[in-house]
Amino acid sequence: MPEIHAVLSASASKRWLACPPSARIAEKLPDKTSVYAEEGTKAHSLAEKALRAYLAGKPLKRRPKDVDGEMWEAVDFYTSICIEKINEARKASPDAEVHVEERLDFSAWVPEGLGTGDMVIVSDSLIEVVDLKYGKGVAVSAKDNPQMRLYALGLYAAYGMLYGATEIRMTIVQPRIGNLSYEMLTVEELLKWGESIKPIARLAFEGGGKRCAGEHCRFCKAAPTCRALHDYELAVVQEATKPEELTDIDIAEIVKRADGIKKWLTAVEEYALHEAVTNGTVWPGLKVVEGRSVRKITDTDKARALLEKAGYSADDIMKPRELKTITALEKLVGKKAFGEILGGVVEKPPGKPTLVDESDKRPPMDLETVKDTDFDDSLLNA
Ligand code: SF4
Repeated sequence: MPEIHAVLSASASKRWLACPPSARIAEKLPDKTSVYAEEGTKAHSLAEKALRAYLAGKPLKRRPKDVDGEMWEAVDFYTSICIEKINEARKASPDAEVHVEERLDFSAWVPEGLGTGDMVIVSDSLIEVVDLKYGKGVAVSAKDNPQMRLYALGLYAAYGMLYGATEIRMTIVQPRIGNLSYEMLTVEELLKWGESIKPIARLAFEGGGKRCAGEHCRFCKAAPTCRALHDYELAVVQEATKPEELTDIDIAEIVKRADGIKKWLTAVEEYALHEAVTNGTVWPGLKVVEGRSVRKITDTDKARALLEKAGYSADDIMKPRELKTITALEKLVGKKAFGEILGGVVEKPPGKPTLVDESDKRPPMDLETVKDTDFDDSLLNA
């Protein structure tokens, strides 16, 4: 990170390996940035700075002013793990090399394949690539992770033969949810995997193959207009409409897929609105109108003076000062410090019942403890 622009980027490899034509389709569509992507970039630059400072013997001691407590703690968690790995590698092999933000060229397997390893360690006993994931939405596993394997191939191409490595470790550190995941492969296994994806990568580079929809469509720029995804999302609903009454299996299938279907519907709605507003697209049977708007006071000092003149006291018209939300406070001070300072006055009540896939790691809920009032609209929001 930041990912080098490539048609077949490592970060999108899960998608183009499953749906080869998506690489060239997405290439023609505009990029969208998000506040989460910007946060991730900022965390990566801080992590790079912190690791370089450590390697130069001048570790960062103070939190920069523009970094909040949450990011400072997350980067500290990541760098602590990296430092442990560096020390371990140097103990086993004193001339172990450490590189930060290392460019990794895996073009021997994937046309024009280039990526960046957040930290790599190379020694004659082990070579390793470590990737920082700043997101906290979904825990990312390093097992069977094509992005990590492509980085590992690039690492092997650069150093593997020189150091005579026999094993490669790929590690993901996702500090905000305490996720530390790794996969260890022998060089033989890694190269075998590299050979297996070569024809798919070539096909994807040439823009060939058939569209294939699935979980991997989540971040595809073509999602709002893709017929294959439309058919995939609606198949479960259409299937379920055959008998007059839905079966338990139908309902369970719909609930399992509800999250993906909702996200796809939102992506289509956002795309249609964006096209209508910015490009003047007229969609059959639709029109753009003004949505609901909320009144706002344009001059709060003047409004206060006018209300006081009208006989209302400050107590009547002013809001009491209140603490920010727990999420905002935790972001401000950092998770660890938040626990230390406020642990005694924060409680976490049991969550509301939620239906999830049975593979979910959480244990089943004790339904004896559920009250009727626990059911509301949030039931389906995992
Ligand atoms: S949205 Fe369409 S093009 Fe994109 S990955 Fe899914 S099936 Fe392929």
